[in-house]
Amino acid sequence: MATAAVIDGKAFAAGLRERIAGAVAKLKSEHSLTPGLAVVLVGEDPASQVYVRNKAKQTVEVGMHSEEHRMDASSSEADVLAMVDRLNNDPAIHGILVQLPLPDQIDSEKVINTIDPAKDVDGFHVINAGKLATGQDALVACTPVGCVMLAKDALGDLSGVNAVVVGRSNIVGKPVAQLLLKENCTVTIAHSRTRDLPGVVRGADLVIAAVGRPEMVKGDWIKPGACVIDVGINRIERDGKNKLVGDCDYASCAEVAGSITPVPGGVGPMTIACLLHNTVRAASAANGIETPQM
Ligand code: NDP
Repeated sequence: MATAAVIDGKAFAAGLRERIAGAVAKLKSEHSLTPGLAVVLVGEDPASQVYVRNKAKQTVEVGMHSEEHRMDASSSEADVLAMVDRLNNDPAIHGILVQLPLPDQIDSEKVINTIDPAKDVDGFHVINAGKLATGQDALVACTPVGCVMLAKDALGDLSGVNAVVVGRSNIVGKPVAQLLLKENCTVTIAHSRTRDLPGVVRGADLVIAAVGRPEMVKGDWIKPGACVIDVGINRIERDGKNKLVGDCDYASCAEVAGSITPVPGGVGPMTIACLLHNTVRAASAANGIETPQM
């Protein structure tokens, strides 16, 4: 029987968006500043189209200026770099997001590192990654920020907590580990070469799973009472139906954990909310204004 408290990312993200809307209203009324977010989508990838539509919708809902720039799948790298350059120089735009993946003919790293770091609201630019790694103020990748917000909501102060992050990607595993270090956790980063992964995870008060393998983390890997944050989004076929599952086996983990994020409805909704949060921060910084409380 499941005993874990369910960490409701959907409700948390809704509350955060409300606070962001309040901050946007304040920037508008007190500073005549409307934060602006531009999303660049190259090609027709159906999942990317859904993400971009949701981002634009939520950007407008919190009162920000939203721009979508759709480019043909056959666009050259030079075309995309020119678009980024134009947005870098547009004073109405404070955040730029280039939706990944990009078509094969385009070097994603080059495109990301052409974004003005002050407008890099995805937090993927090497300058922002380096600032995070050296403990400086940075625009930090959205999903990792969302994970840490949910972990703090569940556990309170994270100082001294033993955290195990499973996964070491640049977009989730590494930045989330660095954020947890900043919160004074004792952090272990596990990956595909880790020996005795179940044993390593069993030592954790806080488990962050960002692996991309459906239901890999089992309940008997979890220390009783631990907090489990499941970043995974995996589509599987079960009983003839399409299903979305995480990297943790929810049923067995929820029997042992103290708290757990569901998939969907856990980490997922936090990503866009944190993107909007970053855009408010970027807009405030660009105008020398202290970021309003959110
Ligand atoms: P990557 O594929 O880039 O990284 C996966 C990591 O998991 C790698 O570091 C890899 O190790 C490790 N790994 C793979 N297999 C194993 C294994 N058997 N045991 C231990 N570690 C393993 O994935 P991402 O970080 O981009 O994404 C992870 C998951 O999070 C995916 O399901 C993705 O869909 C989801 N995601 C969700 C988001 C959201 O909620 N908004 C946003 C981003 C991602 P190694 O480095 O050794 O290969």
